[in-house]
Amino acid sequence: MTRRFGHFETHLLRDGVFSAPADVLTHVDGEASRRQAIERLGKPEIQIDVNCFLLRSADGITLIDTGAGTIWGPTFGQSRLAMSELGIEPALVDRVLLTHLHADHALGLFDGDAAFFPNAEIWVPDVDLAYFTDASALEATPEAGRSPFAIASQLRQLYGNRIRAIGAGPVLDGIEAWSLPGHTPGHTGYLLHDPVRSLMTWADTLHLAEIQPGDPATGLAFDLDPATAARTRLSLLEQAADAGWVVAGSHITGFNRVERAGNAFRIVPDENPA
Ligand SMILES: [Zn+2]
Repeated sequence: MTRRFGHFETHLLRDGVFSAPADVLTHVDGEASRRQAIERLGKPEIQIDVNCFLLRSADGITLIDTGAGTIWGPTFGQSRLAMSELGIEPALVDRVLLTHLHADHALGLFDGDAAFFPNAEIWVPDVDLAYFTDASALEATPEAGRSPFAIASQLRQLYGNRIRAIGAGPVLDGIEAWSLPGHTPGHTGYLLHDPVRSLMTWADTLHLAEIQPGDPATGLAFDLDPATAARTRLSLLEQAADAGWVVAGSHITGFNRVERAGNAFRIVPDENPA
């Protein structure tokens, strides 16, 4: 799926499809609301795309996230095939902008014990980098939640001085990093400026296009701080609707728009203007 936003020829690359039991749904208002959300979902499992983005511009080749690489088995890592179909070998990638340090976003950086991208700089949200390299944060995290810490460690080992810690604000000509905390402390979206309709890639701000726009207090167990994630979600939906942005994410399908619907929102596919 290819669109142009501002300076960028923008390719949405689907890396695979992730499923999990509907029980991973959470709700800020407690168990009864959580049950209702699961009922609204209406199926025993969630199934969501895992996406990353490839951007071509005068600044070269930029990736937003990398997919899961080979570690999640043969049904993942499709973004690597899509890249090679576009004629882009790993050595041609100039930089990777990470949205956060979760496996399905960052494991594509690695090729076993080697760096998959031999020449790329890896731009990492500073807050995530600090948190997931902090020994006391690791100590306080149960075993099951420790994979981002391992990823941060491998990242430092394999990419060393090619890592750039970034904060909110302009990161590249035409791209702005947006702090979207909650899913992880430094979770970040990237806004691609376009004179007509900018593209907000909101990463994991919202996973379930069918139910979260109508009830932004619904979350997933993968949100590290569910209350903050819900506030961020609501506020970004408001901004997206008001600004008329095209939105895409790591786990929703394709390019979309956000519309107001009663007290809440809905997401509708954005027709390709071509
Ligand atoms: Zn994710």
